[in-house]
Amino acid sequence: MISKIISEEKIQQTKKLIDRHEKIVIVTHTSPDGDAIGSSLGLFHFLDEIDKQVSLIVPNEFPEFLEWMTGAGDVVVYNKYTEFAQQLIDSAEVIFCLDFNSKKRIGEMESVIMKSSAKKVMVDHHPYPEDFCDVTISYPQICSTGELIFRMICRFGQFESINLSCAEAIYVAMMTDTGAFTYNSDSPEVYTIVSELIKLGVKKDTLYQKVYHNYSVDRMKLMGYSLSEKLKIYPEQHTAIISLTKAELNKYNAKRGDTEGFVNIPFSISGINCSVFFREDNEKIKISFRSKGSLAVNRVASEYFGGGGHTNAAGGEFYGTMDEALALFEKVIPHYLSLVEA
Ligand code: 5GP
Ligand code: MN
Repeated sequence: MISKIISEEKIQQTKKLIDRHEKIVIVTHTSPDGDAIGSSLGLFHFLDEIDKQVSLIVPNEFPEFLEWMTGAGDVVVYNKYTEFAQQLIDSAEVIFCLDFNSKKRIGEMESVIMKSSAKKVMVDHHPYPEDFCDVTISYPQICSTGELIFRMICRFGQFESINLSCAEAIYVAMMTDTGAFTYNSDSPEVYTIVSELIKLGVKKDTLYQKVYHNYSVDRMKLMGYSLSEKLKIYPEQHTAIISLTKAELNKYNAKRGDTEGFVNIPFSISGINCSVFFREDNEKIKISFRSKGSLAVNRVASEYFGGGGHTNAAGGEFYGTMDEALALFEKVIPHYLSLVEA
């Protein structure tokens, strides 16, 4: 038995919304990651199994390493099929907002989602959720939104409606948001749920290979270049950074998702407890922060780089050149140690 984390009131409110309506839209955050896509596809397959008219809309494209997932081909990408997505949103009776806690995380979709009269349900695990949904299911102590989807379906009493596609999607969400169960994954109940998913037919080793052994030679060489030429260590701050400009990314034919995971590599160096990855995008520098222990990188991200996230995994952005972003970061480093979560 897994413990009841989600409040009974929220379970009943959400179940009622699903039972009483047919047209349901699921949305998740910009630059969707494994948990965003996994949790959304998990809920998608469950709602499809119980015969709801369900659509999944993402603001922009997701990484190629998730394209093999069942249902990935049905995902509507808002910035490619805007009109169609808007029609789906306009006719939706219920909208699930998965894996984000702030309206601005859905980018251009924000206004159309907020204008919709559909009832909204947030299912998420980022701290400090904004109050923009009718039901807010937010539990930052849970490793992934995918895990919350599993808990929610079980609490509906509909475990038997978790088909293999749903189970696989939930597993991918849990695996990717814990670095294949290497962080945020000390809770024994994570493994109770994994065990249930395996009993439902999930082949966990195969899913690991599909996600993590699915990259190009170019990506491997880009990783090699990043580590040999672009890794910088700040020993006193126990911090490592890697930065990649657009020219460098282009040289290695980098595709969507190719730099996923780079930020975690420096943790294999003894003594490193903070790692930061800077990537030049079209009009901004995208920054990923990771830490170990109580160093609250979401505060670094929100105080200096207009972002946010979890204590140990956060993201932000910088409008300017790479050199300016790196200079700001170096200026900020001395303040780090005061940014320990209270
Ligand atoms: P990643 O570094 O993998 O892109 O993101 C790490 C974590 O930070 C994720 O939980 C993600 O939701 C959050 N995050 C990433 N970028 C942003 C951002 O620009 N704003 C906010 N608020 N959170 C972000
Ligand atoms: Mn997540």
